[in-house]
Amino acid sequence: MKRTDLAELGEFGLIERIKSKVTTSQPSTVYGIGDDAAVIDSGSHYTLISTDMLLEGIHFDLSYTPLRHLGYKSIAVNVSDIAAMNGIPKQVTVSIGLSNRFSVEAIDELYEGILSACKNYNIDLVGGDTTSSQSGLVISVTAIGEVAKEAVAYRKGAKANDVLCVTGDLGAAYFGLQILEREKQVFLENPNMKPDLIEHEYLVGRQLKPEGRTDVIHELKEKNVVPTSMIDVSDGLASEILHLSQHSGCGFSVFVDNLPIENKTLLMANEFKMSPITAVVNGGEDYELLMTISQQDYELVKSIPEITPIGFVTNEKNNILVTNSGEHVPITAQGWNHLTTQK
Ligand code: ADP
Ligand code: MG
Repeated sequence: MKRTDLAELGEFGLIERIKSKVTTSQPSTVYGIGDDAAVIDSGSHYTLISTDMLLEGIHFDLSYTPLRHLGYKSIAVNVSDIAAMNGIPKQVTVSIGLSNRFSVEAIDELYEGILSACKNYNIDLVGGDTTSSQSGLVISVTAIGEVAKEAVAYRKGAKANDVLCVTGDLGAAYFGLQILEREKQVFLENPNMKPDLIEHEYLVGRQLKPEGRTDVIHELKEKNVVPTSMIDVSDGLASEILHLSQHSGCGFSVFVDNLPIENKTLLMANEFKMSPITAVVNGGEDYELLMTISQQDYELVKSIPEITPIGFVTNEKNNILVTNSGEHVPITAQGWNHLTTQK
């Protein structure tokens, strides 16, 4: 039998392949594989279900990740996926795989972070699973959320002339990771060197302790605005724009000048001799929301300070970045592919 390398398919190709073998038969399954969360008809509303697994050595490095932060982040990234459907998370289950390497106190610390996030987002922890692991710490979280039926936002639904908007700022988490990796190397070479992270609190914080943007979901609801499409920015702007483009069957023009980038990110890009735009487009883990909003509704949300317009939807097939000088650069990056390159 033919043997195909996983790397040939890539992460998204593999998910597509699994999806192609799946048919759903329950009338309550409104939307299965393919969006930020599954959508289940619960009668009065839709239930949203999203799951994410974090693996030591792939998604986090315990030499610079405090367990409390890791616990917080494992909840926040799932909150982000529920928010990306325009929903509010209500419950989570948390499963862990661990070895003797961890003390009871270490696991207490992990759960301090988990419970602090649950409190912050008003989520109940309602179950999970505990197993042993030979390959480091594994944390798998499933989040369950709710959204009014008429308010659900998918990756599909963007229409020509809609305004493309993003919450918060982009690229900071990428540089947070670069700083942590740099300080780790310095420490490995000279264990007497103390990492100087306070100075980079914002960038490092964006990497270690991201937030899901339920605040923006509440604000959209207050304005009675439902995005025509939405996704969370976990793999970099390019990857997410391509997802919206594929699902919605339209193109995007994004203005480089409009991208929300913090001054601290710009300064750090300079220090790393890297373009901040590359970090925004191909970085990841910002956990902001990328959405399209109809021109009419845009009038209602433009006063929300967390939301920045960065481009618009076109009838074209291609997706382009428009630079300050008016140059058109195709958006082609596929985000971070864990199956070919590890973070
Ligand atoms: P996100 O980055 O928003 O968490 P993913 O790229 O991980 O989204 O997943 C995209 C879609 O594919 C989701 O609907 C997810 O549930 C589904 N998916 C991912 N892996 C699998 C799998 N092994 N089996 C079934 N569905 C999967
Ligand atoms: Mg997502």
